[in-house]
Amino acid sequence: MNIHEHQAKKILKDYGAPVSSGVVIFKSNEIKEKIQKLKGDEYVLKAQIHAGGRGKAGGVKLTKSIEELEKESVKMFGKTLVTHQTGPEGKEVKRLYIEEASGILKEFYLSCLVDRETSKIAFISSTEGGMDIEKVASDNPNKIITTKIPLSEKIEIDQIEKIIKPFDLKKEQKLDANKLINAMFSIIQEKDASLIEINPLIINKDNKLICLDAKMNFDDNALFRRPEILALRDLNEEDPTEIEASKHDLAYIKLNGSIGCMVNGAGLAMATMDIIKLYGEEPANFLDVGGGASKEKVTSAFKLILSDKNVKGILINIFGGIMRCDVLAQGVVEAAKETKLSVPLVVRLAGTNFKEGKEILDKSGLKILSASDLNDAAKKIVNAIK
Ligand code: ADP
Ligand code: MG
Repeated sequence: MNIHEHQAKKILKDYGAPVSSGVVIFKSNEIKEKIQKLKGDEYVLKAQIHAGGRGKAGGVKLTKSIEELEKESVKMFGKTLVTHQTGPEGKEVKRLYIEEASGILKEFYLSCLVDRETSKIAFISSTEGGMDIEKVASDNPNKIITTKIPLSEKIEIDQIEKIIKPFDLKKEQKLDANKLINAMFSIIQEKDASLIEINPLIINKDNKLICLDAKMNFDDNALFRRPEILALRDLNEEDPTEIEASKHDLAYIKLNGSIGCMVNGAGLAMATMDIIKLYGEEPANFLDVGGGASKEKVTSAFKLILSDKNVKGILINIFGGIMRCDVLAQGVVEAAKETKLSVPLVVRLAGTNFKEGKEILDKSGLKILSASDLNDAAKKIVNAIK
């Protein structure tokens, strides 16, 4: 789960990291009152969407008066921002963050993430802040330093020195860097964050080290034990079908193709998507109904697939283990009748109770194409939608 910049900065601040002050607004008429909490007379207005690249897309504006701030906020609310991270459809701006403007002397990059391969926390630092770190990594990989820290109570001082070495900091700034790195390390461990990215981390004109941007991502599987993080979820930022899927505990990711897939098991789902591509079509979604799905779960999965207007055909690929093929078949028949299914449906069943399952499908009166194996299933659905 992602959170907004203003939320990430609040968490960093609570953990003692150096962050500039700001206020969040949902309407332009909140500005006059809320702005009194801020110092200075120049403010930066920042669109709060779950995507980076806002600066280049017009989502970050420097303003020199309250009047200008109000005028710009009216323009920004409701605007759809298209950045390299939003996809072509962009994201609508529904909240804004007003922050004291900083004069910038230097911009750095600092992030940390869980490194699954080594079971350590990897800190990534670079002097090339403020820009696309992927581009730096491909054009100038020597400008990026990775420091892997074992999970322990405390980060050693020489490890911190290694992380901040490229920044060439002064004594005071090093103290703040120390606080920031310890805050990031603690947030990963105590809040189950999987990624924290500060880009840019700056030296301002008073020679202070400050986090000017912050992105945080949390492990979805740990949210059950972090209600305070779950409370930060913004459903506006998520795909409506994916929200619906999470209500039914379905692993669903919307994609752009035309063949809806319902599969049990993530590996089988990936293989199914691959083979659809092999036969020249694109999957409309990734959907894993899970191991022991009930009839109700299958029904909601089926409806979810059909709610996507791009779906021209459905491929169901089930390997019955704990999941029984007859349960799946009942769910499919029910959902197909309820939704008055009008697109071709190919079903491949194997494993536990597949005979019973096939019988239910055959007797249902629905037009279902059955397939003997994965190849056959993919070929049939690709032909059927032509
Ligand atoms: P994004 O990464 O989505 O483009 P950032 O928060 O990194 O958004 O902002 C983009 C750029 O805007 C920064 O690199 C910085 O130059 C400028 N900026 C952002 N916040 C401030 C601020 N409070 N004061 C001055 N400049 C800022
Ligand atoms: Mg940024």
